[in-house]
Order: sequence, then C-alpha cells, then structure tokens
Amino acid sequence: MWNLQEYRIASSPAEAVALMRKGPGKGAYIAGGTDMLLEHPACDFVVDVNNAGIGDIARTPGGDLFLGAAATLQGLVDNNFVREFAGGAISKSASQCGNRPVRSTATVGGNLCNALPSADMAPVLLALDATCYIADEDCQESLPLTDFFVGPRMTVLEDRLLVGVALPGECAGWRCAAHKLTRTAEDISLVQVAVSLGMDDGKIQEARIALGAVSPVPMRAVLAETMLAGQEITAVTPDVLRDVATIAAGECDPLDDHRASAEYRRDMVNVLTRRLITRILTDDGDNMEGGAA
Ligand SMILES: Cc1cc2nc3c(=O)[nH]c(=O)nc-3n(C[C@H](O)[C@H](O)[C@H](O)COP(=O)(O)OP(=O)(O)OC[C@H]3O[C@@H](n4cnc5c(N)ncnc54)[C@H](O)[C@@H]3O)c2cc1C
Repeated sequence: MWNLQEYRIASSPAEAVALMRKGPGKGAYIAGGTDMLLEHPACDFVVDVNNAGIGDIARTPGGDLFLGAAATLQGLVDNNFVREFAGGAISKSASQCGNRPVRSTATVGGNLCNALPSADMAPVLLALDATCYIADEDCQESLPLTDFFVGPRMTVLEDRLLVGVALPGECAGWRCAAHKLTRTAEDISLVQVAVSLGMDDGKIQEARIALGAVSPVPMRAVLAETMLAGQEITAVTPDVLRDVATIAAGECDPLDDHRASAEYRRDMVNVLTRRLITRILTDDGDNMEGGAA
C-alpha cells in the first residue's frame, strides 16, 4: 500500500525542485511511473515532471542531440533525429526496453535516475559521451554521464531534477553497436555492452566501450578503450581484439545472483565486446544500430 498524501504537478524545472523542497515530509519525482508504481518509494508526496517542459527531443544548431528527461522511450524509437544519430543505436536500445505499452510511458530520465546497474539506456548513452543537465531552483549544472551514477540506485542528484542528456554532434557519425543479453525481452538484462568507434583516415580515432549490469553502476571500460584508440583499422587483428575484450572483461565487477554467475557475466562481456567491435569494423555502416551480436 502506497501511503501517498499529495500529487504535485510542476510546470518548469525550477518549480519542480521548489515543490520537491517545500515539504512537509519526503517527496519523489515521478515521470512515467513504470518503476515507481512497481516499487513504491517511501514518500509522502510526488512531483510530476511531465509538464515541466523537459520532454523535448531536439538537434541544436551545433549538431548536438538533446534528449529531454521526460521523453518517452518510444519517443526515442520513433524520433528521426534519434534514428539518424550514430546509426540509430539509441533508438535500437530504447526499442529493446520492456514492451510497447511500457515504452510509451517510461522515460529516458526515469531510466537513468532509477540508477539500476542494469538500466538499459545507460550503456549506449555512455558510449556516445552523453552529458547530463541538472536543474536546481535557480541554476543548472552539467556533468558527464560517467559521473552521474554514484552507486546502485544512487545518483548525484539528491533533490535536484534531471532535465535531460545531450550527445555531442561529433558522435553523430560514429559507428555504434549495442547488445543486451537477457533471458526474455522483458526480463532484466544479464549483461549489456555498447561500443562506439569514431573512425577517420583508416584509423580508430575514438573508442568507447560501455558496460551495464556487470558492476555497481553502468561503466566505461577505459583501459580497453585506450588500447583500441589510435590503432590503424588494418592493425586490429584477432589477437588485438582478443586482448581488448579480455581487458574489458577484467575491468568489470559482476555479481553472482540467481540470474547468472559472475563468471558467466564476465565471459559474456568478453565475447560481446569482441563481436561488437568486429561487427563495427566489418559492417558497411548500414546496419550499425545493434541487433544480435
Ligand atoms: C513490465 C516492465 C518492463 C520493463 N523493462 C525494462 C527494460 O527492459 N529495461 C529497462 O532498463 N527498464 C525496464 N523497465 C523499468 C522502467 O520501465 C524503466 O526504467 C523506465 O525508463 C523508467 O522510467 P519512468 O519514467 O517510468 O520512471 P519513474 O518510475 O517515473 O521514475 C523512476 C525513478 O526516477 C526518478 N525520476 C524520474 N524522472 C526524474 C527526473 N527527471 N529527475 C530526477 N529524478 C527522476 C523517480 O523519482 C524514480 O526514483 C521495465 C518496467 C516494467 C514495468
């Protein structure tokens, strides 16, 4: 039973934060409610953020892609800007979250703010250098998504509001592929890997490898990335790939639980990292948005 006393509706990010701080008692933001209605948080009131003007998806004049926190996952699947960005990798990852009714109300902000290690949108956004925009009552702050998660179900937000995330325009042309390993489409992920490569002049100029569900927070495998960045594409032999994938698997810290053993999860990071990099390097670019690894 959820002992909720009041349902507040915010009309701007600043008002949302003010309503959250007004008391009495403890409050929580609500967007799609798909997480909160399953597991009621201990709170006296909620602040609905759907009318706070944070639901837009837009390309800035500089080419950055902005995803408002209250944009729905189905919105990310359907939006042309998102479908075109980095070969549609973000749309593809969103399309693999839950089922269509869930995606139609679940938001990208709720997915990130819930801060589960297995949040499905985190790896692809980490692999595309996402920046978070956070509102306080009288100011906004931005920080890399890598710094947003501080522990399982914990973010840097405290009582502030996530306004949205921005992907830099440079990443629009990167090749990106992601894979979610799960038992059924609606089950929680066992392992997620997202890889993106910025390539030019026959070289891998930029490399990102992001992992989900294999550490307390979604993470980047930075040592493996460093080994890949700067390589001539022709120099990425099977031996190099094996080394990169082994390093990525060594960087994560998976749990043993009833869904899978830590050893299996680590092995799958190794396999998926190798396969995704191979697919990006061998694909002609028309089908980079994920699918079976
Ligand atoms: C049947 C089902 C299947 C699912 N399948 C998947 C799946 O495959 N993959 C997956 O990752 N998830 C899945 N989920 C979980 C959930 O749908 C997603 O995490 C969703 O994106 C959460 O978004 P929401 O808008 O519903 O969040 P809400 O439930 O509204 O909020 C979630 C949390 O985020 C906070 N919050 C929301 N917006 C903000 C904001 N702007 N600023 C600060 N805090 C905020 C809330 O206070 C709350 O703590 C599933 C859920 C269900 C019910």
